[in-house]
Amino acid sequence: MRDIESVIQRFREAGLKITPQRLSIFRLLKDNHTHPSAEDIYREILKVHPSISFTTVYKTLQTLRDMGEIQELSINPERAHYDPDITEHAHTFCRSCRQIGDMALPLNAPLDLKLPTEQGGFKVHALQVHAVGLCGECG
Ligand SMILES: [Zn+2]
Ligand SMILES: [Zn+2]
Repeated sequence: MRDIESVIQRFREAGLKITPQRLSIFRLLKDNHTHPSAEDIYREILKVHPSISFTTVYKTLQTLRDMGEIQELSINPERAHYDPDITEHAHTFCRSCRQIGDMALPLNAPLDLKLPTEQGGFKVHALQVHAVGLCGECG
């Protein structure tokens, strides 16, 4: 996610209103490295906007994802998590506490992450790399 101003601009260009609820979601995501799920974000926003619906939170996340402002991580088989860091990086996933962390890709990674945008009619949106194991607290 770039700066909040440009996200606001893109929402306006798409004809979407900037509500205080949406603004709170942008602020919560900006520079957030905790990889929250939609439920986590909903719980936080409820503290400030007690009448917000889960659907509003979810739809805002989908819009941000479609705009390429956040990544939707399909690491946890139970639910999607979101990452405003859209630079190429890998993740760790703890089998025990389900926590998602960032993992720097080694410079000599054998993977060529320069993806084709299209392959045999398949449109590539992202390649997600993650390591499964136990975090420092659970291991
Ligand atoms: Zn853990
Ligand atoms: Zn991340």
